Amino acid sequence: MVGMDMSEKRKKEEIRRESTKGNKGLLMRQAFWGILVLVSLLVMFVMGIFAIRGAQKGQRDAELSYAASDMQGSAGNGKGIAADGPGKTLSGDGTAQSEPGKMLPEGGNSEEKPGRTLSEGKEAGDGSGKTLSGDKSSEADPGKALTEGRETGDGSGKTPSGNQEAEDGPAEDGDVQEEEDADTDAPVIAMTFDDGPYTKVTNRIVDVLLEYGAGATFFVVGSRIDTYSDTLKRVYESGFEVASHTWSHKNLNKLSEEEILKELSDTVEKLNTYVPVGDVLLRPPYGSANETVRALAGTSLINWSLDSQDWKSRDADAIIAHVLATVKDGDIILMHDLYECTAEAVEYLVPELTARGYRIVSVSELFCRKGIPLEEGILYRNPWDSY
Ligand code: ZN
Repeated sequence: MVGMDMSEKRKKEEIRRESTKGNKGLLMRQAFWGILVLVSLLVMFVMGIFAIRGAQKGQRDAELSYAASDMQGSAGNGKGIAADGPGKTLSGDGTAQSEPGKMLPEGGNSEEKPGRTLSEGKEAGDGSGKTLSGDKSSEADPGKALTEGRETGDGSGKTPSGNQEAEDGPAEDGDVQEEEDADTDAPVIAMTFDDGPYTKVTNRIVDVLLEYGAGATFFVVGSRIDTYSDTLKRVYESGFEVASHTWSHKNLNKLSEEEILKELSDTVEKLNTYVPVGDVLLRPPYGSANETVRALAGTSLINWSLDSQDWKSRDADAIIAHVLATVKDGDIILMHDLYECTAEAVEYLVPELTARGYRIVSVSELFCRKGIPLEEGILYRNPWDSY
């Protein structure tokens, strides 16, 4: 019995020991796995944080580059249309006055054209904060452009839903161009350059227009012609339309009939001593042309529907952003071959607008393509808006 007891006891003891050992092993294993899980969680947590940070940074980078490309693409929705750019000046030898610094904005006509409001409501630059390139011209621009547009709205008013059309137009164009009559369906715009010639700027503009087979109209100031006759000849011989911006860039509304006629005829005469243009279109300085002026013009008067505001911003990025944000089919774009920033902007805009499907032409060709005859004594802002 005792022997049995002993051996049984020993067995039990062994079993007990065994199970204790087992328990210990189990505990250790559990602890091990527990720690492993904790460590894994910790690692995952840390990695998670880095992943989120990385993603945020990526997003930020993406936004930045969007902003950068946006600057070239769109931005300020300045709805504007303002006065014909720089005014005053230009007289005498033309050279000194051509200095941009001396120019005054041709705002004169804002008051003279009632009832032509811009569709303000639209809130500022749809480029909202998207700004322009990383440089100085950034943030402020889109909003600023709008304000300016509203303030200056001059004669050319009515840029109806310019924005939307601008975005839609070229997009549709892709399909349209495949159709048989691509030419008549493609959006067409006229580029116009006032206040020149001014060799170092005009030549750059002519270069890029030629490179892309684009047209344009140059509204020349008569008193500058002798000084810049070589440039005028180059413009003409390159196939661009040459037109009149009067002799001395005065507000025609403030002149006597005799003075008005002299401003016009002196310019046409002088032009024809260098290039055989015959009669030419007229862009009244500041876009100002009352009934008397229109009656005396003896030709069609051409204002604009899109003011690049180069005379105001004097900044290529701002000009580009404003034009691309508002351009639409049939626009007559006002620019000045006086500022280097304008040449810089044109060097970007011509290829860009061409890539977007726009045909860039002279004023006369724009009206021809749209089937609208230009009539004497009528002032046009675009083919469908005149008085
Ligand atoms: Zn002008």
